Amino acid sequence: MSYSNCQNPKCHYYDTKDRIRGTKPNKVYTTRKATHYFGIACTLNCLNEFWEHNSEQIQRAIPEMPIQSRPINTYYNWRTKELETNS
Ligand SMILES: [Zn+2]
Repeated sequence: MSYSNCQNPKCHYYDTKDRIRGTKPNKVYTTRKATHYFGIACTLNCLNEFWEHNSEQIQRAIPEMPIQSRPINTYYNWRTKELETNS
């Protein structure tokens, strides 16, 4: 799933030319497309402001993860995504 528009409620507060829409007397700054950052935001800054704005709702939707652990003689292979044992 991804959104079509940037979900930062302040996206249109940034003064960039690519946000301007409309004709002469009625020009406005608009929200950009959510083309990056998991289909949520248009920039990393907008993604940070999205987390900040929605942090309570996100924490309500996703339960807290308990402390995780792994045996001391193991390591995570980031390429195979497997927990492996030191030899
Ligand atoms: Zn944005």
